[in-house]
Amino acid sequence: MSDARDDLLTIDRRHLWRPYTSSEDHQTQTPLFIERAEGPYLYGAGGERYLDGSGAWWCNNLGHGHPRLRDALTRQAQDIMHCSMAGTVHPSAVLLAQELVDIAPPGLTRVFYSDNGSTSVEVALKMAFQYWQQNGRPGRTRFLALPGGYHGDTIGAMSVGDVGAFNGIFAPLFPGGRPAAEGLPDPTHADDEAGWDALFGALEAALRATPDEIAGVIVEPLIQGAAGMRTYPARYLQRLREVTREVDTFLICDEVFTGLGRTGTLWASTGAGIAPDLLCTAKGLSGGALPFSATLATERVFDGFRGDKTRALMHGHTFYGNPLGAAVAREVLAIYRDEQILERSQARGAQLAAGFARLAEVPGVLRTRSLGMVAAADLGAGGYLGKLGWAVHDEARTRGAQLRPLGDTIYVVPPLNIAESALDDLLAIVQASVAAALREQRVRDHV
Ligand SMILES: *Cc1c(COP(=O)(O)O)cnc(C)c1O
Repeated sequence: MSDARDDLLTIDRRHLWRPYTSSEDHQTQTPLFIERAEGPYLYGAGGERYLDGSGAWWCNNLGHGHPRLRDALTRQAQDIMHCSMAGTVHPSAVLLAQELVDIAPPGLTRVFYSDNGSTSVEVALKMAFQYWQQNGRPGRTRFLALPGGYHGDTIGAMSVGDVGAFNGIFAPLFPGGRPAAEGLPDPTHADDEAGWDALFGALEAALRATPDEIAGVIVEPLIQGAAGMRTYPARYLQRLREVTREVDTFLICDEVFTGLGRTGTLWASTGAGIAPDLLCTAKGLSGGALPFSATLATERVFDGFRGDKTRALMHGHTFYGNPLGAAVAREVLAIYRDEQILERSQARGAQLAAGFARLAEVPGVLRTRSLGMVAAADLGAGGYLGKLGWAVHDEARTRGAQLRPLGDTIYVVPPLNIAESALDDLLAIVQASVAAALREQRVRDHV
């Protein structure tokens, strides 16, 4: 077994180019080899078991290998695995559209498919931009966005994201040569109330000063994932909704991470008491099975594309509405209904909150927070390039959990249906790993 693993590692080192990994690190770091996964667990090549703390990159809301998702995939594969949706439709994509609209925030009645979170954002940006181009406000050519935002790694999505570790080098490629959040004040952390006040105040001022330039405002509602699971109060979103209505521009909620119950309500938007004009959903919707996403729009936006061919949204991916992805997404929604995923996750959310409140007492932990089924702890001020989270990652791996930190911030995003005992185990591992990593750190600081 370990020979086979060494062979794989050799091939990996020789031919793979892993995401967010320098070519140097690729040569020196040893990845965890995973052979199978079940529920909240990943299983290594030697049968060793790890709790998956990062939810397969935040998309694994129902745990790994839910039997109903496996069945749905197999069933759909018997009928049709793919067809274009250019002049053709298939049942799964049509029915999913209805089912999504039924549970969407009020007013979102149109569904446009694509195949990952970044493209669902690109689609929203293009819809907003083109709407104004062909409906009397062609000067509306730029977007506003929050510092610390993350909306994906394609160029348009990067241009509305933060310019830190992820996007900075690409800024010259952005529309107008500058990131959408440029000039807006960046809160120093989740609890920096004055910082959030300043940010949303500046956003409102920018909207009022230049309404004729702004095609839309894009936000991650209630929590900025990649910024370090930075939460902020709903009242800012409510105010932003009011102001975008007053100046009549679009509010885009990127719910790629928050959608499908991650924050304790089905959508973070509805949890915050708002409904956007455009909404992006991907990770949870995919069931952690296949790349799949959707951009939801209001009837008003859709109506802006009536007319001759030149007024169509000229966008469509090869895998638009892929039957396998759509069938899995439909089954995801059915499981939420049948297994009362959201309702039953409330108790787990409380358990998670209590666990991270305890974690706050570990010496060296700066602050902790939780929202629904996501919880995070800041261990230092080093941001994404900070190393403390990686020290916790190493400790957790020896204790049976896989955590992927965001620099100096560690977080967990367990399946919404994780068992109480498994969540207790995960919390205990996090607690022990953080304590051990910070103890090491203090020892080092003293020598
Ligand atoms: C992950 C993420 C994206 C990008 O999704 P991909 O599927 O990785 O392209 C966009 N927005 C948010 C809020 C995300 O968390």
